[in-house]
Amino acid sequence: MSKKNKIETVCVQGGYRPGNGEPRQVPIIQSTTFKYNTSEDMGKLFDLEASGYFYTRLQNPTNDYVAAKICELEGGSAAMLTSSGQAANFFAVFNVANCGDHVVASSTIYGGTYNLFAVTMKKMGIDFTFVDPDCAPEELDKAFKPNTKAVFGETIANPALTVLDIEKFASAAHKHGVPLIIDNTFATPVNCRPIEWGADIVTHSTTKYMDGHGSAVGGAIVDSGKFNWLEHADKFPGLCTPDDSYHGITYAEKFGLEGAFITKATAQLMRDFGSIQAPQNAYLLNNGLESLHVRMQRHCENALAVAEYLENSDKIDWVVYPGLKSDKYYETAQKYMPNGTCGVVSFGVKGGRKAAEKFMSGLRIAAIETHVADARTCCLHPASSTHRQMNDDELRAAGVSPDLVRLSCGLESKYDLIDDIAQALEQI
Ligand SMILES: *Cc1c(COP(=O)(O)O)cnc(C)c1O
Repeated sequence: MSKKNKIETVCVQGGYRPGNGEPRQVPIIQSTTFKYNTSEDMGKLFDLEASGYFYTRLQNPTNDYVAAKICELEGGSAAMLTSSGQAANFFAVFNVANCGDHVVASSTIYGGTYNLFAVTMKKMGIDFTFVDPDCAPEELDKAFKPNTKAVFGETIANPALTVLDIEKFASAAHKHGVPLIIDNTFATPVNCRPIEWGADIVTHSTTKYMDGHGSAVGGAIVDSGKFNWLEHADKFPGLCTPDDSYHGITYAEKFGLEGAFITKATAQLMRDFGSIQAPQNAYLLNNGLESLHVRMQRHCENALAVAEYLENSDKIDWVVYPGLKSDKYYETAQKYMPNGTCGVVSFGVKGGRKAAEKFMSGLRIAAIETHVADARTCCLHPASSTHRQMNDDELRAAGVSPDLVRLSCGLESKYDLIDDIAQALEQI
């Protein structure tokens, strides 16, 4: 498909291009394995001498069609699907940072990612420094160490809704010769394309807006193909020296800047950790992607209407939504996401934690769920659920106060959503 196609067209038709007489829908290749005539044919695949499929743990055509669409949406050079957003972020970081290395991350990231970094990857010998995303460039600079291998942040943080100054983070990362990895789950490429602002790697929990219907857990990694690994070869031996576990291949030389990162993540990490997305789930994800551009617009419209209503309600202490003019991140959001941000609004109900819980149980349209970015409106109290492993200081650093309610506005009528909120607030 021509590079000139608009994002709406890529959402609908990107990735899979059927030939004459081939299925119009993305075919689900429900097969673990693929047949070859000679051992030599198969050997070439194992040596990465020829491209093709041999075992679905590494690659599957359905997944590749859908990964190619996400790659086009983000403007990247290569992409892969993973079984979840957690797997995507783990692979993206572990592909460049190993035992003895260090990573700089924004402190307001998603609770699950924070836990992955601060607890589980720390056990693997990888050290993380968490920085205030709003810190001055000089302060950000100080977080780097000689063994720093990557910088990580979220376009719009879940659930803190801080908007990352991507250019500030990109220039700090590049000054220190390391890539910037951006989790773009909340904005989606419809509203923001981090690669255009200097990000090197983009990750997604496709479970959220990309799927958008609460159907399938999944993740994706997109490489910009722009980071020059060979210029910083001493920092990235995994990409720039021969891989003994893969026939002595040097990824950055054999696959170039465009292919090295995703080929290594597939050949090493997917091979060894096996976090593949089921082809059936990739098919469901693709159905979601076909309407992503239409849905994002409505999610944002509903969220803005709800945020404006909450802002004017005397039963609400505070509202955070980067699309609100009064929001701390309004200007930053306008710069990076002029067409809209996301459908998630955070707020504090007067009366604190207890009032928040009472409010939530009074809602009739919005359901209490550990989920966001769904067609159906849902809400959550992070301090008692997703973030319950954090103490109060860690909660504050993550931008989550004990009274915070996260409301994910779905695709229903904004008038019904506001009526529902109004009647639930009356019940407190
Ligand atoms: C949900 C989420 C994740 C984790 O994704 P899963 O698909 O649930 O594993 C990572 N990052 C962000 C921003 C998320 O919202």
